[in-house]
Amino acid sequence: MDFLRDTIRTIPDYPRPGIQFRDISTLLGNPRAFRRAVDELVQPYAGARIDKVAGIEARGFILGGAVAHQLSCGFVPIRKKGKLPHETVSISYALEYGTDEMEIHLDAAARGERVILVDDLIATGGTATAAVRLLQQLGAEVAAACFVVDLPDLGGRARIEALGVPVRTLVAFAGH
Ligand code: AMP
Repeated sequence: MDFLRDTIRTIPDYPRPGIQFRDISTLLGNPRAFRRAVDELVQPYAGARIDKVAGIEARGFILGGAVAHQLSCGFVPIRKKGKLPHETVSISYALEYGTDEMEIHLDAAARGERVILVDDLIATGGTATAAVRLLQQLGAEVAAACFVVDLPDLGGRARIEALGVPVRTLVAFAGH
């Protein structure tokens, strides 16, 4: 997966000193890389019963929409608080400094539906853990959580797997 890894741009010290920001906009802008990333994300689930793909705002919408299209299933957005117009379920989760809140529409997935969660990157896993909990509150079964980038030193993958959710990632970068 060196080809994909090489299409991701690293911005040092963004948005804060010490953070290596893994910018997937360069991957998305490369036609071969975008197609390859989506194909690789869906590969284990082709032919499986998946009812919905849930994408986390905002980069998870781009990848999740393409994954849903490829699997011929529905797409549902998980958004920052206050953005979804209908009745929602919300959850607050810890950030490095402070807390944030995310929401999903109450009718986004039905009890027993099998859902794949998609985001661009997993770091500490705090965001994805909250998203898994939201989907589980709706009664959905989270069949997998998929990310293009893993930052394994931050332990997010292990946190999601501890919830009983299989994790798929395509490329890894050391450090934060
Ligand atoms: P976390 O909740 O710690 O797993 O952080 C994951 C979320 O923060 C994802 O939505 C990422 O887009 C974003 N994120 C965290 N760290 C980075 C990083 N080093 N580069 C790019 N995005 C990041």
